[in-house]
Amino acid sequence: MTRKQLHTGSMYWPSTASQPVQSYEPLGNRHVQYDSVIVGGGMSGILCGHELATKGIRTAVVERGTIAGGSSCANTGLIQFTNDIMLSELADRIGEERAVLFYKACSDAIKHLSSLTDSLASRCDFKHRSSLYMATTEQDVPKLKREFQMLNSHGFDVEWWTPHDIQAHFPFTKTGAIVTHGDAEVNPFLLIHALADDAVNAGLTIYEHTDAIRHTTSKTEEHLLTTSDGGTITAERVIFAVGYEPEELRTQLVKSNLNRSFAIVTEPQTASFEAWHERMMIWETARPYLYMRTTPDNRIIIGGLDEEPPQPIESAAARNKRISKLHDRLEQMFPAMTAPTAYEWSATFGESRDGLPFIGRDPARRNVYYCLGYGGNGTVYSVMARQLLYELIQGQAPPLAELLKLDRPSLLSIP
Ligand SMILES: Cc1cc2nc3c(=O)[nH]c(=O)nc-3n(C[C@H](O)[C@H](O)[C@H](O)COP(=O)(O)OP(=O)(O)OC[C@H]3O[C@@H](n4cnc5c(N)ncnc54)[C@H](O)[C@@H]3O)c2cc1C
Repeated sequence: MTRKQLHTGSMYWPSTASQPVQSYEPLGNRHVQYDSVIVGGGMSGILCGHELATKGIRTAVVERGTIAGGSSCANTGLIQFTNDIMLSELADRIGEERAVLFYKACSDAIKHLSSLTDSLASRCDFKHRSSLYMATTEQDVPKLKREFQMLNSHGFDVEWWTPHDIQAHFPFTKTGAIVTHGDAEVNPFLLIHALADDAVNAGLTIYEHTDAIRHTTSKTEEHLLTTSDGGTITAERVIFAVGYEPEELRTQLVKSNLNRSFAIVTEPQTASFEAWHERMMIWETARPYLYMRTTPDNRIIIGGLDEEPPQPIESAAARNKRISKLHDRLEQMFPAMTAPTAYEWSATFGESRDGLPFIGRDPARRNVYYCLGYGGNGTVYSVMARQLLYELIQGQAPPLAELLKLDRPSLLSIP
């Protein structure tokens, strides 16, 4: 299979590793057998692999490149329970009860990630943070207020901030904002490696540089994956965690919109962060939205400017216009933060067409599952998937599975 280029530019996260990360041998042309095989070694695949291995299920992950080298390397590491689709918009679409079930699952996934990261031996820079969700324009205030009211009425930890409140905490103002508590930031690259190290200790096998090119099912319902090097893996079940490359499934099941997005990371700032209240993560109501966060080494990450088509921009000169725009936006909001851009990238970014992730069984093939981290909250979805898939494998029927399954009504009704 041809490898899709998922990002271009200079990636920040690999530079944060204090020592070379662990690499894993390819499968080569060997034949091996496992209970579960996971295709894809990004955030989704490694989180799932970690869950299954620590629960005693003999599992292998096959990754065509290196783990954490796909879209997960472009991830800017904001972990939020609020989604690209507002709770109130989701409630209009699928009903309030189900929308709240999903939002609560996002909030629980962050708590789960918090305790999971506590248990890891290696660092992944997970830190609890609050977020400032700003109205981009005056016209957005009523819908943001409605969102606040719905979140508040369902017990989410939120505050409404007036322009005065915003100005008292930041060097800029806006016409209104929701402050959400219970969010977090993480270093996605280090998180994947820390999870992989831990999972390998618990029995997970990882094969890097191993491209699964064919999947067949025998009459006895055993799954066979063949790799480009002539290796084969047989397993009771297969989990596809292939990110934005679900070529074989696209037309039938994965109804997504693929775009490209941009992010920059500045040099460490010399100015004080006192004017950046509690280093909150910042985003806005505009779609596509801009977002910002800080890093432990006093840099600022700014991302957004999503546009068509999905292919990342190859030429640095062509990316320059977007890089300057992101940097200008930072300086407008934080005039003292003048450190120049140190890293910048362009990457494919996928969203599902109904705003919910794709997690669950293949409706037509037994023991085939999907864990696809689409959407700006992909990490939260991957965490959710890890628990959900384990429950499904155990034969349970969690209500959330019904909401996120690939043949759900909200997707089937979309052409
Ligand atoms: C610019 C940008 C910023 C983002 N910011 C955030 C953020 O702040 N917070 C957040 O939660 N999410 C964010 N996301 C989304 C997040 O990056 C994704 O949710 C996440 O990367 C998805 O992980 P994944 O494991 O599903 O995909 P990937 O990381 O792409 O992993 C899939 C892997 O599967 C492998 N693969 C595919 N096919 C095969 C095959 N046939 N055989 C073997 N291997 C195969 C690929 O090589 C790849 O490594 C952002 C995304 C982008 C692009």
